[in-house]
Amino acid sequence: MSNVTNPHALSILRNTFGYADFRDQQADIISQAISGQDVLVLMPTGGGKSLCYQIPALVRSGVGIVISPLIALMQDQVDALAQLGLNACFLNSTLSIDEVNHIERQLLNGNVDLLYIAPERLIQSRTLNLLSQLTISIFAIDEAHCVSQWGHDFRSDYLQLSILAQQFPQVPRMALTATADERTKQEIIDRLQLQHAKKYISGFDRPNIQYRIGQKDNVKKQLVHFIKNNHPKDSGIVYCLSRKRVESFAQHLSQQGFTALPYHAGLSAEIRALHQKRFLREDNVIIVATIAFGMGIDKPDVRFVAHIDLPKSIEAYYQETGRAGRDGLPSTAWMIYGMQDVVFLSQMMQDSNGNDQFKRAERSKLDAMLALCEVTGCRRKVLLNYFNEQTGDHCGNCDNCLTPVETWDGAIAAQKALSTVYRSEQRFGVVHLIDILLGANNQKIKQFNHQNLSTYGIGKELDANTWRSVFRQLVVRGFLSIDADNYGAVKLNETCRPLLNGQQALLLRKDVALSITSKSSGSRTAKKQKISIEEVDMPLWLKLKACRKRLADETNVPAFVVFSDATLHEMLTYQPCNKEQMLAISGIGITKFERFGAEFLAVLTDFQSC
Ligand code: ADP
Ligand code: ZN
Repeated sequence: MSNVTNPHALSILRNTFGYADFRDQQADIISQAISGQDVLVLMPTGGGKSLCYQIPALVRSGVGIVISPLIALMQDQVDALAQLGLNACFLNSTLSIDEVNHIERQLLNGNVDLLYIAPERLIQSRTLNLLSQLTISIFAIDEAHCVSQWGHDFRSDYLQLSILAQQFPQVPRMALTATADERTKQEIIDRLQLQHAKKYISGFDRPNIQYRIGQKDNVKKQLVHFIKNNHPKDSGIVYCLSRKRVESFAQHLSQQGFTALPYHAGLSAEIRALHQKRFLREDNVIIVATIAFGMGIDKPDVRFVAHIDLPKSIEAYYQETGRAGRDGLPSTAWMIYGMQDVVFLSQMMQDSNGNDQFKRAERSKLDAMLALCEVTGCRRKVLLNYFNEQTGDHCGNCDNCLTPVETWDGAIAAQKALSTVYRSEQRFGVVHLIDILLGANNQKIKQFNHQNLSTYGIGKELDANTWRSVFRQLVVRGFLSIDADNYGAVKLNETCRPLLNGQQALLLRKDVALSITSKSSGSRTAKKQKISIEEVDMPLWLKLKACRKRLADETNVPAFVVFSDATLHEMLTYQPCNKEQMLAISGIGITKFERFGAEFLAVLTDFQSC
């Protein structure tokens, strides 16, 4: 049952937002909300959730109330709407009494299109009292997964939002999130009383993100190589596990000539706010961060997310990589990992306070993550299947699809590795086991008399790197495990017996150091692989960017609030030279044209003979 697109909604989309058509389910969602129906929207990052509530708020009479936990973003959101000619404001703890009074007066006068508010503020009796005097068009509950007590982003204030259903039964409510899993969805429905809501669940694929996962070799070199070859002039996020690594990598990237800023919970609130602001406002800033950085990074043009340490679950990986490419333009999720990640994460889980059941659950999440790393087929398929979404076998836009993985017969190598673990009594880590296999002659070998083991020196046909790869794959496939209580000693699992006895075949993947593969381009979206600017277009492109930057600075907003990269790129491609042609560019509505159109037309006419 599909609704006819509401004509008023369509005209707002075109004239105010400057977009030609609704995407996928947007038209339906918007029509439902306009008709007063409650709605639940599960849509991936970048899917276009904001329009789903902004347009009903404009079509219906009254003010739209947007509930969001992200206070730091409210100013930018409100500024962006102001650039479209809308009257939006926010109520949160950063405002002075005078500012609050002013906003309350505007609300009572019915002059506000959209009000952004944090949940803790909303449930105060003063606010509820104010709201009861207003005509409200819609309640939009953004980041609705914050009601989930199991999730990372739980906010207790969200639990009290059920009050809206009771106090404002006639106002439609829309809950929105990019979280994909079933349990969270159920919790949102239960806690926000959305049993009767229309539910819109989009696919969670992010086709514009290219997934690439490889082995750690020389992390600093690999990271620099990746950025230089793929995203030399782009914004990106580099995720690491520890504060110390954040500092060290931010410094290294800076020394290499990038603008790289650290972000972690150990820095003062001022520094964090400053770095976040520079990331949002300046071009080409790289944030090196722990997972403390993330929630609500609403920057649409993050071109890459790099993981130099392994996330502990696919949920975390999906969420973190999802911060790339909200604007739908090609972006990269790049990760390298190694055996030491597995040891480290296993140890962390072992040391955590949870009970055994909790630890088992964490462990199986890590195993799923490792399976994604080691898979020889399409990564997108594994990722989406994990969220119960079926998909084809070949996405054409992940490393394995682009460069099929080579495998080799690893049965003999595995036998040698396993018997070395056995003969050294399952008490040693991978480094020492490899020393035994290669017949090294060091202190530790002598100390334990390991030169006398029957497996001493029997692995010289492979180099240390390949042995590391063998051990890693044996662990990931469950033949070996890491004893977290015992300094990462490697132990045999029952399942390894047939392998050890030479009764089982084993194909191993040939590792590729990710620094060698680069600049690959996919078949499916080959045309869109990069916002590639031809050499000849570069001078105009730089002028357009400079114009955007100047206007953004004058207006005191981030550059993407003036125009997105996608809009700027269309300008470069079509080179409009009058108002009509300008309004045909995606992302340019009437108000934005009035504010910025002339300046860009001047830049463009300078370049062409209109
Ligand atoms: P989400 O909140 O789901 O992550 P946003 O609402 O920020 O996504 O939208 C992502 C990007 O897509 C924004 O730049 C937005 O302006 C753009 N967008 C949304 N809907 C449309 C549309 N119908 N046509 C063109 N661009 C759109
Ligand atoms: Zn693929």
